Amino acid sequence: MKIHFCGAAQTVTGSQHHVSVNGRSFLLDCGLFQGRRQEALEKNQKFPFDPAAMDAVVLSHAHMDHSGNLPTLVKNGFKGHIHATPVTIELCRVMLRDSAHLQMHDIEFLNKVRRKQNLAPVKPLYTPEEAEAVMPLFVPHEYEETFPVTQGVEATFSDAGHILGSAGVLLEVNDRGRLLRVGFSGDVGRPHLPITRDPVVLDDLDALIVETTYGGRTHGSFEDVEEELVQIIKSTMATGGKIIIPAFAIGRTQLIVFLLHKLFLEDRIPEVPIFVDSPLAVSATDIYRSHLDLLDRQAHRIFLNNKLDPFSFRRLTYIQDKDASKKLNDLAYPHIIISASGMCEGGRVLHHLRNSVDSQNTMLLFIGYAAQHTLARKIMDGAKHVKILGEDHEIKCKIHVMDNFSAHADRHDILSYIRTTPPEKLKHIFLVHGEQDNSNSLIDAIRSQGYQNVQYPTFDTVCEI
Ligand SMILES: [Zn+2]
Repeated sequence: MKIHFCGAAQTVTGSQHHVSVNGRSFLLDCGLFQGRRQEALEKNQKFPFDPAAMDAVVLSHAHMDHSGNLPTLVKNGFKGHIHATPVTIELCRVMLRDSAHLQMHDIEFLNKVRRKQNLAPVKPLYTPEEAEAVMPLFVPHEYEETFPVTQGVEATFSDAGHILGSAGVLLEVNDRGRLLRVGFSGDVGRPHLPITRDPVVLDDLDALIVETTYGGRTHGSFEDVEEELVQIIKSTMATGGKIIIPAFAIGRTQLIVFLLHKLFLEDRIPEVPIFVDSPLAVSATDIYRSHLDLLDRQAHRIFLNNKLDPFSFRRLTYIQDKDASKKLNDLAYPHIIISASGMCEGGRVLHHLRNSVDSQNTMLLFIGYAAQHTLARKIMDGAKHVKILGEDHEIKCKIHVMDNFSAHADRHDILSYIRTTPPEKLKHIFLVHGEQDNSNSLIDAIRSQGYQNVQYPTFDTVCEI
């Protein structure tokens, strides 16, 4: 059995692992690579394998960096099944449609700027029609239901507790008579994170592919997150300013809305208007609402048992309409805007940034991880001048980064995930979805627990099990 690491290799985007066994092959995830525009486009356009020869795709969850490049795979000849949980499929449908429309919109805007600069126009990675061609290939599977992937390989999804529908994947492989249990963690959530249930840890494994986004740090408690948020909101509102929160439309947005609603109920934050300005976030929230049974106990205790919708409250407005979105620019009173994308690589948040980053009265609040070379990361790292939608802007606004807000397991969680299978059994550990700064010390920590074969594969590396 071979695993060919084709994405999220020493980086946190473009999750894609190509598995070959018994002369057949399939893909774990088909994520979009995000980073420097030209480099990202090139990586996303070409696959280091033949998509037409692939039997299946097994998806961990509906985030762009795990599922966002499916249309390019299908456009390049993939005709197999795409296995995912029912909620992941629902979320992927809206996410891929939105991604294609956003690309068309952003490219139109970018090409206008390029025309002025006498540069040739560029094309989107995929069109809405190409995104639509993915939909008939999805096959739903509930958690803990075992299904065939290809000859000699069965898979089972378990709740990864990261976003709704997210899954870890257990592969049970018969490699010419050799039986192997291989785990793919997907993105692992945090225990006690609001909304999602605690992650189910895959155990008794011969090999594990595990994400390490926050392998280099330990998160504080979620109660501290609430207090930090209260202080930021109070201090910004007191100066008459506004807060812009770039947030992934799926997962992050519902989590921040949930928390703000809770803080309102507890009377801990002022009565400030809040806008969720992202058509995808609106659709994703509707999907969350239609699966309230999947929410965790805290959501039931605070909201559902009291017949409250966690995702709606008096001061909150969801915005789909483009003109209503533009009108937010003219608001003269304090307010909060939550808008996608989280890494500021596309979407309406770019327009809000373009209008507000040069104002000292704006607070830009980051609540999620941003990959290297993305606009969000540049701003988080202190860049004073950035390009937004092709134009130069000076950053004069206040910046605050809340790493503690993460929906990813931290170093402690990853180590206890691994320790669930003893070193005598777990012979291969592959660290993916993590940048070098976070992963190097984690490798030492894993080895010190007795696990000898820990690998941190680079892009296009093939490892044998
Ligand atoms: Zn994710």
